[in-house]
Amino acid sequence: MSDTWDLVVVGAGPAGASAALAALHADPALKVLLLDRSDFPRDKSCGDGIAPHCLDKLASIGVTGVEEGWAPLTQLELARSEQAVARPMARPVYVIPRQVFDARLVERAVDRGAELRREKLVSLETVSSRTDSNGTVPDRTVSYENNSYETVLNGTIRGRIVVGADGAHSVVRSELGLPYGRRAIAIRGYAATPAVRRGTQVIRYGDRRQPAYAWAFDRGDGLSNIGYGELLPTDGEPPPSRALLLDQLEQLLPGYDGTEWKGHHLPLSGWRWQQPDGGLLLAGDAAGLINPMTGEGIYYAIATGIAAGRSAVRALRGGGDAGALHRQAVRAEFGRHLKHTWVASRLAEHSMIVDGGIRVARRDRRVFDELVELGLGDGRISGRLVRGLVGGLGRRAVSTTSGRGR
Ligand SMILES: Cc1cc2nc3c(=O)[nH]c(=O)nc-3n(C[C@H](O)[C@H](O)[C@H](O)COP(=O)(O)OP(=O)(O)OC[C@H]3O[C@@H](n4cnc5c(N)ncnc54)[C@H](O)[C@@H]3O)c2cc1C
Repeated sequence: MSDTWDLVVVGAGPAGASAALAALHADPALKVLLLDRSDFPRDKSCGDGIAPHCLDKLASIGVTGVEEGWAPLTQLELARSEQAVARPMARPVYVIPRQVFDARLVERAVDRGAELRREKLVSLETVSSRTDSNGTVPDRTVSYENNSYETVLNGTIRGRIVVGADGAHSVVRSELGLPYGRRAIAIRGYAATPAVRRGTQVIRYGDRRQPAYAWAFDRGDGLSNIGYGELLPTDGEPPPSRALLLDQLEQLLPGYDGTEWKGHHLPLSGWRWQQPDGGLLLAGDAAGLINPMTGEGIYYAIATGIAAGRSAVRALRGGGDAGALHRQAVRAEFGRHLKHTWVASRLAEHSMIVDGGIRVARRDRRVFDELVELGLGDGRISGRLVRGLVGGLGRRAVSTTSGRGR
């Protein structure tokens, strides 16, 4: 029997499921294979924070109600040592265990016609169904009209287009020869929610390599998702141990009696996003897209999964090179935002700036909303935020100097 597909999606997390959903939304007759090494439902180490932007994106491809049965959460508290701000967010977030959220998306993709198969991708080879005038098979990085690629996965599965949504250690990304940029590591567990933290998301910044923070996100069902993460060293120093991560969590957010600890890497986004031409498209963590300020990646995963699914359909209809279409779509949507989060994450390496940001967000609700938008959605650094920070730092310098003079 032929194992040939219009679209093969590797990885059925939010990025992969969204790619399959978007492609089938655009063309319900498409043959789509969704490949994952795990059975669903499956757990994934995560803070489980689902930004409202995720739901907007899913609604744009006709997927609604994935948050059903989970309580909306509006209160957000940001703190570092003595500085703190606690405010309602402009729009609620949801804290939905990934075991539930991801399985719901996969179920929708299967309902829409995708075939889900449990199989680990170990090898892939891209060939061209067309030879050039000399009879040689052109290189996969060359762009062709009418999309004449074909990729063979695990030696037997053939896909005209392949979406690599296989997470932080992506086989598809390494086949493309793209290195990841900076990475963070984080560990999460579940613990009972104390009464004072009901209905809130708490983030406490630490003093280690930024971004470094502990969180406690109330799920609304009596449990909280708690955890701690920090930037991985690039200078040859050993990565932080599990014991160190748990110790940081206890120091920053003491008193939680957590279980089900699970850690994972977070490939953080950089200044410029890369996607080569050709028939292999990247989405989500495989595309190196996690917000370097906050560690949020589900929104990018859904958005870039959708972009990949749509680009695949356009290319299959003869609309151009799949990789080029995907690159243009993602850069148009996120190009400037990624630069702004890159700058913000570099500034946040200085604790003075983090303190300043918290102070300004406490004084001005609009700055608070803008920080949330930059950290959870596709916001930018606004003039108001810069002015607030500069003003705050100026005031701090004056008070420190006059304090010293006393
Ligand atoms: C501790 C922690 C806390 C976080 N908290 C948040 C948060 O609160 N909110 C937020 O938005 N983001 C958070 N993130 C980031 C978020 O988890 C990721 O950005 C998100 O999971 C990316 O989705 P994805 O679909 O790209 O990848 P994944 O969710 O990792 O899915 C990849 C899929 O690919 C499959 N796979 C991998 N390799 C293969 C292979 N070789 N063959 C077949 N299948 C394969 C895996 O089984 C998996 O199902 C957190 C991350 C960590 C580690």
